[in-house]
Amino acid sequence: MANSILRARCGSLIAVAGLMTCTWLPAPGHATEAPPAARIAVDTREAPRGIMSAHLILPVSAGPLTLVYPKWLPGRHSPSGPLTSLGGQRFTANGQVLPWRRDSVDLNAFHLDIPSGVTRLEADLEILTAPAPDGVVQGLESPRAATESLLILEWNQLLLYPEGSRSDDLIYQASVRLPPDWKFATALATTSPGPERVEFAPVSLTTLMDSTLIAGRYFRDLPLGGTPAVSLHIAADTPAALNMSSETAAHYRQLVREAAALFGATHYNHYDFLWSLTDQIMPDGLEHHESSDNRSPLRALVDDPIRRAEANLLPHEYVHSWNGKYRRPEGLATPNFQEPMIDGMLWVYEGLTEYLGDVLAARSGLLTEGEFRDEFARIGAAMQSHSAREWRSLQETTVAAPLLYYQSRAWAARLRRQDDFYQESALLWLEADTLIRRGSRGRKSLDDFCKLFYGAPSTGPKVVPYDFNDVVKALNAVYAYDWAGFWTERLNRLRAQAPLEGVQAAGWRLALTDAPSSMHLAHEADDRDLDLRYSLGFYVDDDRATIGDVIPRSPADLAGAAPGSHLIALNGYKWSKEHLHDTLAPSANPSGTITLLIEKDDMYKSLDLKYSGGERYPNLLREPGTEDLLAHIAHPLVAAP
Ligand SMILES: [Zn+2]
Repeated sequence: MANSILRARCGSLIAVAGLMTCTWLPAPGHATEAPPAARIAVDTREAPRGIMSAHLILPVSAGPLTLVYPKWLPGRHSPSGPLTSLGGQRFTANGQVLPWRRDSVDLNAFHLDIPSGVTRLEADLEILTAPAPDGVVQGLESPRAATESLLILEWNQLLLYPEGSRSDDLIYQASVRLPPDWKFATALATTSPGPERVEFAPVSLTTLMDSTLIAGRYFRDLPLGGTPAVSLHIAADTPAALNMSSETAAHYRQLVREAAALFGATHYNHYDFLWSLTDQIMPDGLEHHESSDNRSPLRALVDDPIRRAEANLLPHEYVHSWNGKYRRPEGLATPNFQEPMIDGMLWVYEGLTEYLGDVLAARSGLLTEGEFRDEFARIGAAMQSHSAREWRSLQETTVAAPLLYYQSRAWAARLRRQDDFYQESALLWLEADTLIRRGSRGRKSLDDFCKLFYGAPSTGPKVVPYDFNDVVKALNAVYAYDWAGFWTERLNRLRAQAPLEGVQAAGWRLALTDAPSSMHLAHEADDRDLDLRYSLGFYVDDDRATIGDVIPRSPADLAGAAPGSHLIALNGYKWSKEHLHDTLAPSANPSGTITLLIEKDDMYKSLDLKYSGGERYPNLLREPGTEDLLAHIAHPLVAAP
């Protein structure tokens, strides 16, 4: 995608962009000297108060200059640069303030005129780090990035670069000033550790954007072994939250060994897991080539149900170093951060990563074999309850990914499906894995595809783009089959039924039984809700007893319940989780009617739900006389030391 280079303008960061004049660009490889670096100095000392600031020094030449604020963010797959949180733009040169003008159409672009003789432009920017001081969870377009005790610095939030440049060609030298006595971690190489200011080695803009920094008052570093070396760095809102058990630490060391065995090669020079533990920032994960930015609830290490629910987060983000960063769909391998991304291959980028994240969590011991199985029951049942599958194909959910991320749960099952291409694709990759294992009589598996597609030779960070045909070709090289037909049909079909063929081929079937699985309970603890989607047909959050979503054709749906309603009472008695469980028991409910008193829009309303089925939760049951392939898939490749 070279067209963005041809849009480079006179007066852009000439040397930074590797361009020697403002007239024409030299052909690639013709730059005669290393470009001077731009500098970015970030001050995070006010981050706990809700502000971070940056001072940039950009090499420029005289003439019109357009600077842009990164819009399309790698890993976010969407135009989610937090423009609404940006402010304080001020540009100066030789001590004089320069006027600027926002583009009337592209609101991420700022136009300036660089006076003659000026070679150095200074810019000041500020960004909100806590746009939700009341603790309300915000979407990622205005992310919360700091608490009183930790911060997450994503450099893209505080920088500008010349329009039309390639991010690989721009060099930035970054530094950061941290709150006193806070520790930090990032994949960037440190050249001067402070104490006033931490300085980092110059890197390309691509690498800087890919090198999130976390810092905190309470901090822990843990080497995880591996060649190249892998480390875990944790910042938490309380010191007690850092108390990872030695058993859990051993599982994370095993994760590094299992990933090396799965892929057979690495594509980083070192790898740093960055993990923020707080209840004040939305749980999330963002992959980078040599690190990952993981965000979990405060008690993710010390509360076992929450630990289990979060168990696939680090494995998932780690897999992305291979699947997403090294091998990347060509529509996502864009030359800069203004070029729109094309998300139609997220069924590989995210779907296979979701599958392998669970597989590695099981092989490393972060999940037991039973918990690994429970996850397939959980996602299979969720798929089955989404009537939006009748109008929206898997392919459509990937193309529409920017619209689907971080939406409210309200009516998701009926209307939208949310971003469930992660889970549906994971079920399909399980189907592909079982197909290869059965067809090859156990000689081959998806592990062989991983080695072929993502493996040797080991390299440092680099991007090797691929398309649909490359995936089909590699699958065929492992096991000859009509893979083009397999994926084309599954990506485009409209089918209410969840894709459970892989679960069945693995020797299991989905059933609703009266006991919740340990993973069902773990996710309830993690999400702080009560999940009754498979009995009454809704879930309700702990804090305000708000109904999050209503499942189509469920008793709650047929009785007229709506998401956003607050549950007040059941059968005339004040709502509580315990009372709701008691009320579900068939013996407590001989009439087959459960009456909910709800409050919505300041109105009180009574709803009669016709239901007498007791508690119902998704579980996998063994199919007699078949081979248990899930056990094979979950089995470690490497013996734990
Ligand atoms: Zn992912």
